[in-house]
Amino acid sequence: MTAKPNIVVIGTGGTIAGQGKAAVNTSAYLCSVLGIDEILDAIPHAFALANLRAEQLLQTGSENFNNDHLLVIGKRVAELLARQDVDGVVVTHGTDTIEETAYFLHLTLKSSKPAVVVGAMRPPSAMSSDAALNLYDALAVAAHPSSRSMGTLVVANNEIHSARDVVKSNSFKLEAFHSPYGALGYVIEGEPRYYRRPARAHTLDTPWSVETLDVLPKVDIVYAYGALEAQAVESIAANARGLIYAGTGNGNVARHLVDMLCNAARRGVQVVRASRTGAGIVLRNGAQPDDDYGWLTVDDQVPQKARLLLTLALTSSADRRALQAVFERY
Ligand code: GLU
Repeated sequence: MTAKPNIVVIGTGGTIAGQGKAAVNTSAYLCSVLGIDEILDAIPHAFALANLRAEQLLQTGSENFNNDHLLVIGKRVAELLARQDVDGVVVTHGTDTIEETAYFLHLTLKSSKPAVVVGAMRPPSAMSSDAALNLYDALAVAAHPSSRSMGTLVVANNEIHSARDVVKSNSFKLEAFHSPYGALGYVIEGEPRYYRRPARAHTLDTPWSVETLDVLPKVDIVYAYGALEAQAVESIAANARGLIYAGTGNGNVARHLVDMLCNAARRGVQVVRASRTGAGIVLRNGAQPDDDYGWLTVDDQVPQKARLLLTLALTSSADRRALQAVFERY
């Protein structure tokens, strides 16, 4: 018999740690109240999958997470994965920004050991809660050798998603997590089954390590609509090193904003055209002459993850060509 793997489970809060007054409270409840030990105690069968050790790192809703929270989580996961007596890490997390933390880990961990981020759409106290099974599945994924070298994974609703692709795309349903090119695989009866691998570079193949990052450059996002005023965009761009412009359709920019964004780019703000549609490619020099304007484009990345990618890219370069190459590689 081979020895069981050692998995560390890090609690950070969210619905998976939530509690409602009654079982019917599937959407109205308190978040981040149960400790990670209590959550694990509810799934005793998980101890058959691995030797589990739990630690409470944070206890707050993920809508509160800023860059400092990402660094705190990233540094702790990196520290644990570097240890010989740790085979994988699971982070329990609110689902609101689960894709952002997971993508940050995907780009900055320097390990091929599994790192899995998991949440729930209904608290453990609710009818048909997904908390227990999602956590059990996440532990099964982290404990399994086939999960190595896959980058950071998000497990929900029996599916294993790549952190690069997954987005929360529904505010209350159990089927809230979606990857535009599909999940990497399923989890069934405590066993992961993979059907594809991430095609874009991650973890060991990126230049960024969370262990050496301390302050992250400020990158903001602007959500476009026809009546958006130049002044509003300008005030956001004034304090940022980068600006993700979540444009309409294929990253379109309203005529009255073009000069202002060109000026921002001339001043050294990295202006990146993205799309507010949630999926698809923003083609460089397609809807707008990006080369002439000094703008960047996201390829297919959603605004909230493009923010993280540009944030990391700005820690290693200020050269526009190099920054554009980053959007095409990761
Ligand atoms: N807003 C909370 C959070 O992101 C709860 C959402 C959830 O976990 O499903 O932590």
